[in-house]
Amino acid sequence: MKFSKDDDFYSKVMKSITKVRDQGDPPRSDVLSLDAYICDLCKGTVSKENITQCPFCGRWVCKKNCWHTEHLACNPCVGVIKLCKESIELERKKMSTELTLKQQNKKSLRKRKTKSGSIFEKIGKKKSKSNDE
Ligand SMILES: [Zn+2]
Ligand SMILES: [Zn+2]
Repeated sequence: MKFSKDDDFYSKVMKSITKVRDQGDPPRSDVLSLDAYICDLCKGTVSKENITQCPFCGRWVCKKNCWHTEHLACNPCVGVIKLCKESIELERKKMSTELTLKQQNKKSLRKRKTKSGSIFEKIGKKKSKSNDE
């Protein structure tokens, strides 16, 4: 499942997620091994190829246990993403029902307008005749 580049959605998710690290910050390296890093979530030792930074919270997490390739986010962030998605879908449903209600109101207003002007046309014609005499 991939989500579209929805600004509303992303800003909502970013507001709900507490940033742990800045993007581009290096992961915590393992003291004992040169080419290994420590997962911010499970604290496990991970090789360079198997660690990735979450674009939402900035945590460095292991791809094996703490990363969702489906959502492209770490475990705790996936929970927030799911919640935000649900609430946005609810808001959209509410918006669409409000729009249809407004359209219905406009239609009923048009019907109320009545024809006018025909009486004034007749008066104008009579006046021009009397001027000729
Ligand atoms: Zn992990
Ligand atoms: Zn995250």
